[in-house]
Amino acid sequence: MSTEVKTTTCYMCACRCGIRAHLRDGELRYIDGNPEHPLNKGVICAKGASGIMKQRSPARLTRPLRRRAGAERGAGEFEPISWDEAFAILEQRLAKIRATDPKQLAFFTGRDQMQALTGLFARQFGTPNYAAHGGFCSVNMAAGMIYTIGGSFWEFGGPDLERAKLFVMLGTAEDHHSNPLKIAISEFKRRGGRFVSVNPVRTGYSAIADEWVPIRPGTDGALLLALIHEIVALGLYDREFVARYSNGGHLVIGAPGTGRDGLIATDAAADPVNPQYPQNQLWWDRHSGRAVPSHAEDADPALFGEFALADGTRVKPAFQLLAERVEPCTPEWAEGLTGIPAATIRRLAHELGITARDERIELPIAWTDCWGKEHESVTGRPVAFHAMRGLAAHSNGFHTTRALAILMSLLGTIDRPGGFRHRAPFPRAIPPAAKPPRGPQDVRPDTPLASLALGWPASPEDLSLDEAGGPLRIDKAFSWEYPLAVHGLMHNVIGNAWRGDPYPIDTLVIFMANMAWNSSMNTLEARRMLNDRKPCGEHRIPFLVVCDAFQSEMTAFADLVLPDTTYLERHDAMSLLDRPISEFDGPVDAVRVPVLAPAGECKPFQEVLVELASRLKLPAFVHADGARKFRDYPDFIVRYETEPGSGLGFLAGWRGADGTKSMIGEPNPRQWEMYAANNCVFHHKLAPSYRYMRNWNRGYMEWAQRTRMRRDGDPILVHLYSEVLQRFRLAAQGLRPGRQPPPQLRARVEKYFDPLPFWYAPLEAQASDAVEFPLAAVTQRPMAMYHSWDSQNAWLRQIHAHNYLFVNPATARASGVQDGGWIRVESPWGRVRCSARFSEAVEPGTVWTWNAIGKAPGAWALAPDANEAREGFLLNHLISDMLSGGISNSDPVTGQAGWYDVRVRISPAAPEAQRSAPEFAALRPYPGMARAR
Ligand code: SF4
Repeated sequence: MSTEVKTTTCYMCACRCGIRAHLRDGELRYIDGNPEHPLNKGVICAKGASGIMKQRSPARLTRPLRRRAGAERGAGEFEPISWDEAFAILEQRLAKIRATDPKQLAFFTGRDQMQALTGLFARQFGTPNYAAHGGFCSVNMAAGMIYTIGGSFWEFGGPDLERAKLFVMLGTAEDHHSNPLKIAISEFKRRGGRFVSVNPVRTGYSAIADEWVPIRPGTDGALLLALIHEIVALGLYDREFVARYSNGGHLVIGAPGTGRDGLIATDAAADPVNPQYPQNQLWWDRHSGRAVPSHAEDADPALFGEFALADGTRVKPAFQLLAERVEPCTPEWAEGLTGIPAATIRRLAHELGITARDERIELPIAWTDCWGKEHESVTGRPVAFHAMRGLAAHSNGFHTTRALAILMSLLGTIDRPGGFRHRAPFPRAIPPAAKPPRGPQDVRPDTPLASLALGWPASPEDLSLDEAGGPLRIDKAFSWEYPLAVHGLMHNVIGNAWRGDPYPIDTLVIFMANMAWNSSMNTLEARRMLNDRKPCGEHRIPFLVVCDAFQSEMTAFADLVLPDTTYLERHDAMSLLDRPISEFDGPVDAVRVPVLAPAGECKPFQEVLVELASRLKLPAFVHADGARKFRDYPDFIVRYETEPGSGLGFLAGWRGADGTKSMIGEPNPRQWEMYAANNCVFHHKLAPSYRYMRNWNRGYMEWAQRTRMRRDGDPILVHLYSEVLQRFRLAAQGLRPGRQPPPQLRARVEKYFDPLPFWYAPLEAQASDAVEFPLAAVTQRPMAMYHSWDSQNAWLRQIHAHNYLFVNPATARASGVQDGGWIRVESPWGRVRCSARFSEAVEPGTVWTWNAIGKAPGAWALAPDANEAREGFLLNHLISDMLSGGISNSDPVTGQAGWYDVRVRISPAAPEAQRSAPEFAALRPYPGMARAR
């Protein structure tokens, strides 16, 4: 008998904890946390420990499959084919598309961790129609924060709970930075920190908070604006921080009706030097009483007032405009919207401001800022926040997130001890430099895109528009409908492709996303569209390729199924070029290495992409003579460089010929081996003087330029006022030369591209009848399952095999609903039947349930009458991707899906109804699947 322990990285959710796989005679016996891993320090959750049952799941796909001739999509009737056949089908189809119209390939991926590779493939192929899951996940959290402070939560940054005294969490599920955050919260509470959770539901993190503040979904923006109102009114903002490190002192031009209105005033005679950070913008100096270049030596900007420049131009500091904006946002105003008593809002604001002001932190770390001023110490404010999809997944979430970032900034907590801290490669410029393709000239046959498919528009010139000013992309990202859709709009792809709006496509490749179930709004409609045909008999989406490790509702619709490996069977790189697992003190990247051989004929999707890219002769994957460059995915990861000789690749550790370099260095053929010998993780610790104030830290900026994390060393000022948004607004007002929105979108762009945050009711709430549909309905991911991944897991199913709709008892009784009784839940878009449970842990105007526990019968290799299908239900049947009048149920700035905006009513179901609805025909196992036990 031989025993062996191999380290790798978990993928039972997206948090990337280090794990140890314990094997006996080559067989996996159990999994535990790796104590030497910087992220989870040995902690493992129920999901992580249950990876062994995922490995043994009867839902595993083991062979490439082709839909049987004549079978309907969705029926799951397949015949096995060889990989050679599968590659030949793909190569032939994709080569033709690439040679004619590359955007006919739409390539969308779910919660994968290889976007640096999938994005590279799409760019090299030449299609702009690429994105991952962000648009229907938390793009508002990414965009709202990054367009304001140059960083965001989770992979991008987080709360420094080691030094915080007060921690406020808004709308966060347990699986974002799960184990690390749990460890940090437990230590924070032991140290006596106070934890306040703002959430409509008191579960998970909220259940262990010192104070739960229930709030109506979609109203967080109103709360945040009221908190800002109080902080400004009480003078509890960090004036020094705001003045030096934000654009609060920058002068904004007030010239209504002109193209200068709302732009930041500049000295036209001075050189802006860097358009990303114009160095000729102006402050009003309080000492000299005149306009001076921002950050001029010894100047101190006025934050309040109105002034006239030498040429008579009227200007106000951005902070003055912010103060005017929040002036009417009183706690009483917010109480009416949020349901939180005004006195509570006042108390919270006071506590935030006083804690930040009076509990100042000082660390004896000398540093120099970007303007050359030397600081003897790093100071901080011990107030930390964390927020995620609860704030983001509303059609007003972008401005809500901006309001949060501004509140954090006014308290002086950005990249300072005790507050918010960045994680490399953040902070990024505002906005980051990458831009999407601008028009048809950038999408040409047999040619890679000049840029990545996704990027960060800084003005209307950066939008992706066709010749007529319409959308260039199938999901309409970066069009005038969703100008800052920086993560794409995966939730729009099936509907748009079905409608042929803006154009039909030929092939849709979906990797690891359950778009026929829990990842689509209005699931019934998405399923119908996937199977719908044109009058000629051809499907409206002609060819559908799905790659996944497990049989699911989505794989049943594929024309071609590619069986992926599990996370225990493959190499993976969690790269600094993508979303790594960095710590506050420096960059961290990680890998997975195979601890088991692939089941059956499974092939890692990474291998599929490298193989396809080589066959299609995509330039980055072949030599000049067309010969393939990379043997396989591990070889690609080791030898790929962003440019020839750049020394910058997917992995930052153990670079250089002998593995002695890091961050930058020539490829190391033994790099995988070295990661494997070092817990599969590389951690570069920054010098202490580079760890804080990184937006404005000269030493850090120089290091970041050397390691190519930043293109320039200019400071990244917090954008209290967003000139980027104002540029779009001026275009909508017809006051800016260049690209302008079409007439039907002018008012929309003008309204939502407000340079200052504001609260508006989510689009769905604006259109719904609040009397007919009086309740907000939201979902949460359960701690024990990650989206739809875990219903095939025999251990985790023992925790959840069906879900209830949780209802406050007062709400339930008013509707005649019994605890445990079967009920009807109706929205303007659909109805479901499910059972109800009373819960005091939800505010009375909201009902909620766990996401993705309900399954289609037979899906995920469950028995057709499994609890998941019989008693579980999916709230998605009540949510629509489109609202009345053809308006998408998405944030008008970013395209974020408005998952949490749906309004419903509840009533008792007919007494004979004792199972969930709608019901579906049972799926049968596919060839190559094991028999379910
Ligand atoms: S939190 Fe996620 S990554 Fe960490 S052990 Fe649990 S499932 Fe694995």
